[in-house]
Amino acid sequence: MSAEPRAEGGAPLILVVEDDAAIASLISTALETRGWVPLVAGTAATAIALAAERSPQVILLDLGLPDADGIEVVRRVRTWSEGLPIIVVSARGEDADKIGALDAGADDYLVKPFSVGELLARVRVALRRAGHEGAEAREGGAVLSNGALELDFAARVARAGGEELRLTPLEWRVLALLAKNVDRVLTHQYLLEHAWGTGQVGDLASLRVIMASLRRKLERAGAAGLIQTHVGVGYRMLRAE
Ligand code: CA
Repeated sequence: MSAEPRAEGGAPLILVVEDDAAIASLISTALETRGWVPLVAGTAATAIALAAERSPQVILLDLGLPDADGIEVVRRVRTWSEGLPIIVVSARGEDADKIGALDAGADDYLVKPFSVGELLARVRVALRRAGHEGAEAREGGAVLSNGALELDFAARVARAGGEELRLTPLEWRVLALLAKNVDRVLTHQYLLEHAWGTGQVGDLASLRVIMASLRRKLERAGAAGLIQTHVGVGYRMLRAE
């Protein structure tokens, strides 16, 4: 039994977009040790074509490509697929680079030099996430659970350990966004635009207050440690084991 989606003929197909042959080879070898099938693209144009033609389960994406910025690959893929996980693997470690990639629709960000173990763990999370989302879509997704946390979207109620969390409307919306995007880093900007409702954009200070309050409520209800802070970038809800 496995939650990981399978490519035709078996193992998950991972598109490795990397123009440095040595790094592409290192990543490919690591993926093969897990039984995953790497497919290498050295340019943005090849990456976009292969993403469309071969339907990989995950894309690992370098940003510094010879023909275009990797962000362009993110934008193009997102025009036809919302759900295909894209993990940026880049030497650019500035907050602005991470935010740019995440805002364009990347799911995760790994800074070079990276550890192979960490890279494989991120791919595993992305495969699991894609599998879970498929299952949720089939069930209609009115209730979403993650470990001790449960969100009932029809009733707009969050429970942890069976106990109802008393949330303000804004806290509910922030928690719902994080839970719907479990394992994905949401930038401050994304949360400020999407949680505050039509035409309104929140401010960072209010968001921090809400996160602190949410964490206290989750912790009291026995669901501590679910929300991870990415300093200067945003927040991510971790998938509970
Ligand atoms: Ca490069």
